[in-house]
Amino acid sequence: MRSGILHRKVQRNNRTRCLPIVPRAFRWSVINHVHESLMHLGWEKTLNRVYEHYWFEHMAKYVRKFVDGCITCKVSKSHSGRVQAELHPIPKISVPWHTVHVDITGKLSGKNDSKEYVIVLIDAFTKFVLMYHTLRIDAASVIKAVKSSVFLFGAPTRIVADQGRCFASKDFKDFCESHGISLHLIATGSSRANGQVERVMSTLKGMLTSVETSDRSWQEALEDVQLALNCSVHRVTGASPLELMIGRVARPLNLLTIDDTEPEIDINKTREQAARNIEKCATYDKFRFDRNKAKIVKFDIGDLVLIQNEERNQTKLDPKYKGPFKVVELLEGDRYLLKQLSGNRTYKYAHDHLRKIPLTDVPAELDLFNVDDGNAETATSK
Ligand SMILES: [Zn+2]
Repeated sequence: MRSGILHRKVQRNNRTRCLPIVPRAFRWSVINHVHESLMHLGWEKTLNRVYEHYWFEHMAKYVRKFVDGCITCKVSKSHSGRVQAELHPIPKISVPWHTVHVDITGKLSGKNDSKEYVIVLIDAFTKFVLMYHTLRIDAASVIKAVKSSVFLFGAPTRIVADQGRCFASKDFKDFCESHGISLHLIATGSSRANGQVERVMSTLKGMLTSVETSDRSWQEALEDVQLALNCSVHRVTGASPLELMIGRVARPLNLLTIDDTEPEIDINKTREQAARNIEKCATYDKFRFDRNKAKIVKFDIGDLVLIQNEERNQTKLDPKYKGPFKVVELLEGDRYLLKQLSGNRTYKYAHDHLRKIPLTDVPAELDLFNVDDGNAETATSK
């Protein structure tokens, strides 16, 4: 008994805690509160957070059922569970803020019909996330976001990004070079080189939709979403990003508990364990990837292919593919160098973003379909 409340001694993840036992009548509101404080993160993250503060019988089952039934989650999240293996894993370094992934969300609805975006920085080791709202996707906005993060943690050693126009731009390359940051550009949309980041990006999209209410826009909730991600246990590392970063179990602003004793964390141990977990996960991903490798469609030099339009540049009605493009070089890791049929611009794409078109189906005037980043000129308009 503590302050008149019945507690239970619980051991979990090598930590012993005394947690209040939640009476049946309060279970729903307790879970609801935690789930909302976490900006509608999934059931596993919700459960891990509940584990920190409360105990009652069959908690896992209850939390899962609760989140499964959450209308807000249902309405706003797309189906998840896509498996992404890492084809060319970038060597993993178990140092916080050493390697940072940068990405940009797809178009989000802004005020007055404008389009807005979120630039997302994710630390490869701790999975710590920083989010910056932006009205434009250009080198200047990305540099500004990276600078803001540098003011917090100093310059990272390495930045990983896709070959999106702003990341591949001269300005951004110059910025990285002049600050001694090595810039690692991966094939556009090659999410396998970048699986865990891709997962955060898809979680984020669902969350931003979930948090939007009549009196609160997603822009206003952005920082709450950031904190929710950073103080929730990450599936891969087995610890929360903030725990790995600063050695404390952080709590979201709205989540007050009666238990104010802070669990002791051995930050070195936690980090070592996280590094092992990341390694284990990468090995498993590779195993799954290799198992599926037989299904990969191969292209040859001279083949004509279509490129899947990036979600970033898309509205619902845009075509899903653009092209045709010609395969001019086979690159390692089932990636290809493609060339526009007229013009010399080349692109690097991974196989899963390409679709082969049979030679006989290509119309005489080939590049009528050459849609470049949304400046669409369709065959009919020509
Ligand atoms: Zn929910």
